[in-house]
Amino acid sequence: MIRYHSTNRHLENVPGIVAFKETVSFKEALLQGQAPDEGLFMPDPIPMLDVKDILALKGKPYADAAFLVAAAFLKDELDPAAVRSVVDDAYNFSVPLEKVYGRKYLMRLDQGPTASFKDFAARMMARLMSRFRDAGRRLNVLVATSGDTGSAVGEAFKGVAGIDVTILYPRAEVSGIQQKQLDTIGANVVALSIDGKFDDCQDLVKRAFSDPDLVQFNLTSANSINFGRIMPQTVYYIYAYAQLADPGDEIVFSVPSGNFGDALGCEYARRMGLPVHRLVMPTNENDEFPSFLNSGLYEKVSPSRACLSNAMNVGHPSNLARFFELYGGNVDRTGCVHKYPDRQEMRKRIFSVSVSDAQTRETIKSVYDRYGVILEPHGAVGWKGLEAYLEGVEDWPLCCSLETAHPAKFPEHVTNLLGIVPEPPPSMQGIEERKGEAVKLSGDYFEFKSYLTRTLKTRD
Ligand SMILES: *Cc1c(COP(=O)(O)O)cnc(C)c1O
Repeated sequence: MIRYHSTNRHLENVPGIVAFKETVSFKEALLQGQAPDEGLFMPDPIPMLDVKDILALKGKPYADAAFLVAAAFLKDELDPAAVRSVVDDAYNFSVPLEKVYGRKYLMRLDQGPTASFKDFAARMMARLMSRFRDAGRRLNVLVATSGDTGSAVGEAFKGVAGIDVTILYPRAEVSGIQQKQLDTIGANVVALSIDGKFDDCQDLVKRAFSDPDLVQFNLTSANSINFGRIMPQTVYYIYAYAQLADPGDEIVFSVPSGNFGDALGCEYARRMGLPVHRLVMPTNENDEFPSFLNSGLYEKVSPSRACLSNAMNVGHPSNLARFFELYGGNVDRTGCVHKYPDRQEMRKRIFSVSVSDAQTRETIKSVYDRYGVILEPHGAVGWKGLEAYLEGVEDWPLCCSLETAHPAKFPEHVTNLLGIVPEPPPSMQGIEERKGEAVKLSGDYFEFKSYLTRTLKTRD
């Protein structure tokens, strides 16, 4: 049986933390999100895959790779036919693998409904939550967003049975296009435009979660530390390997990293048996992790630095606790290290480097000039990290770098640097014409609570 424990289970005498020593099922980890001691849930044991089964995915649809992984994680909790219908429904878009040169590839994770890799995790998680909720009892997802996560979550849950989504966003802090994306999802997804900052939205959501009057509504979060979002992120590494590798090959992946959820998917894929030679984890100028690998001392970057790759402006990655635990260490939510991991082992498996904004711009330009491949800032950090690895550490034949968003989401950078206007993916076309209004709220908790009490449903 696979059980899930908290990264904080061994902490003793730490003020404010009461270690959670029990284990839970996948279903409980999915619906609770975080352990009661604010630790992160970790699967034990990690299920193993046979490399033969992975290689047999060559030429097969993405959903087949998702089935292989999800069935392994859920074998004790969901029957294979249900897993099949979850993955078939979640993955109805393409996953292009673009050759850059030789056997160096780019995997574009930008063909989903909001054109970022977050669609992959959010869509599987939404469908699993729908399956695992108590029959007849409605789940209400509350999310605070500063922009992109909210629309990825909203689109992922759109039309999913038995679940309603309420998204809170700060009225003055989202871009015009982000607001349009959030306001117009429709169906079972409502946007609340809050007169306040992102932190105010987060505070409203946190208060609602701990408000006993709202327990009847079965509130849940869909945040990025949920293991239900990590598991689907192991799939594309397995898929890419199957498409690109010959038997016996080992592959290098480069993953532009912020909260480390994406890279964690690769770390788990390797531990499940995928022949990953090295995981390259470039960051932007928020360099706490590459600095730690070099110096052995972990210090979060606070406040975080604002870089072009804005979805990676993270000064203390929320999934670092999982990486530390996988290498024998422990760090808590605040960035306090209780036990250092085995850094030698980490450096054997992981290469990390900080990429500046200037290097990000240069990379967008040089990759286009040399190979005709269009990158946006996040993907450029990924590619630059791979170049740094190949030049500085060792050349390696089979490599795949991840492009985590569509270049059309960052027209200002791409157009300024390359003089071209990237063609938007189908999911982003016609967005200006979409109709929908947000509900405007002041940011007062009691007004928000009264809104929830009036509008949320408790049953199907
Ligand atoms: C969230 C995000 C990232 C960073 O992923 P993590 O899992 O937080 O490391 C990179 N690129 C884009 C476009 C993102 O939205």
